[in-house]
Amino acid sequence: MANIEEKIAAILAAPICKKVTVCGLGKSGIAAALFCHSLKMDVTVSDRTPYEKLDLHELEAKCGITYNLGGHDEKYFTGADLVILSPGIPEDIAPIKAAKAAGVPVVGELEWASNFFKGNIIAITGSNGKTTTTSLIGHLLSGAGFKTFVGGNIGTPLSRALMSGEKYEQAVIECSSFQLETTRHFHPHIALWLNLTPNHLDRYPSMAEYGAAKRRLLELMGPGDLAIIGADDENVLALAKDTAPQKIHFGTSNLCVPGALVKGDELTISGLPGVKDVAFDLKHPILVGAHNHLNAAAAISAALLAGAEAAAIKASYPTFKGIEHRLEPLEGASGLKFYNDSKATSDQATATALKALKGPVILLAGGKDKGGGYLATRAAAPGKVKKAVLFGAAAGLIADALQDAVPVEVVTTMDEALKAAIKAAAPGDEILLSPACSSYDQFPNFEVRGQKFKELVAAWVKENG
Ligand code: ADP
Repeated sequence: MANIEEKIAAILAAPICKKVTVCGLGKSGIAAALFCHSLKMDVTVSDRTPYEKLDLHELEAKCGITYNLGGHDEKYFTGADLVILSPGIPEDIAPIKAAKAAGVPVVGELEWASNFFKGNIIAITGSNGKTTTTSLIGHLLSGAGFKTFVGGNIGTPLSRALMSGEKYEQAVIECSSFQLETTRHFHPHIALWLNLTPNHLDRYPSMAEYGAAKRRLLELMGPGDLAIIGADDENVLALAKDTAPQKIHFGTSNLCVPGALVKGDELTISGLPGVKDVAFDLKHPILVGAHNHLNAAAAISAALLAGAEAAAIKASYPTFKGIEHRLEPLEGASGLKFYNDSKATSDQATATALKALKGPVILLAGGKDKGGGYLATRAAAPGKVKKAVLFGAAAGLIADALQDAVPVEVVTTMDEALKAAIKAAAPGDEILLSPACSSYDQFPNFEVRGQKFKELVAAWVKENG
């Protein structure tokens, strides 16, 4: 009997009419099903959610797709040639276990699509800074004249790029740990592992399991590949050590010579394979803070290694617009400055934002607790935070953690928190929404939370500006 690798190779060689079951109909699952349909595969889609609750209009416009909804019928899994599993669905659900027991290959959307991509693939993972770094690499490569696709966990699945008919030369792919968990055949030429801090500990039993999911990215690469790794992060250094790809270190210590060394606002690139040594000025109107300098160092290294000219990078770096909800400066009034950092859903991310701002800061934090504690925020608060206004389900927990370090006030909603913050503020203060929690207690996601904050601030500025 053919092994899994051989079975996948056979399907790749002749996908027409091969039976594929796509498990999970989120963004990635729908894109994967459409892509498989375009390859003329025999497609079944399966989701435990019933038909009425799914938006299937794109699939319904195609003929010949089989629907298995409101639960998973194992016959579509054990009888398939291939199962594509959406990120976020655990591998230990019964139909996936049954498929594996029957010898059916189970792959993720990204790894399946990556087999068909003809250009260079750059993959980014880490606990924090993925989206910023991914977008910046995309911006720098586009600025250097490459036709560039930016996607993965960040928004558009790679399957969509393949169906678009565009001839992309570079794909810059953000990878979450959930995507990497199930990955066995994804093989980028350049990978970035930015950092590893406690996050998603509601989903992983321990840091070791979380780190192992991220490490998979490097385990899938070979000695001819390049891994750009965060050398300021001991966990990343230790976990990356015994993997095959050539390591390029970025960070602030001498471990980054050769590599990408950040000293204050300056980045010195030395000894990168095929790249002339060069220095960059990292000062930027929106990418502020030491953490963003590290993101920029990683992104510039990746762009250089992917073939961008240093001069083109220098021209396009200052025009990067930043990313919404990440330490996003808003229009202020009455001498008050406002920042929307709704994406800071972990203790570490909030501490990072506090370090990046000048202060005095009035911090708005709270939401749904993620189990990682608030020690980093507590450590960064004294001398920077004038007052913390806490809201949502985790308000009490955060208040317990911060109250002997800075003045705290507990309210119920973000609206009340903003009012209390403005009341406590003096001209020159920075009012920062950086929740250190997920949004799911009061908002559907961090984007809606950030949007709401922006609307509340804009309404106040209109009245007081
Ligand atoms: P991700 O996609 O990994 O969640 P983002 O780029 O969206 O990362 O940034 C999320 C949050 O993480 C931001 O609010 C920012 O404060 C923080 N952050 C960004 N880059 C870093 C970094 N290099 N180190 C630590 N924290 C960071």
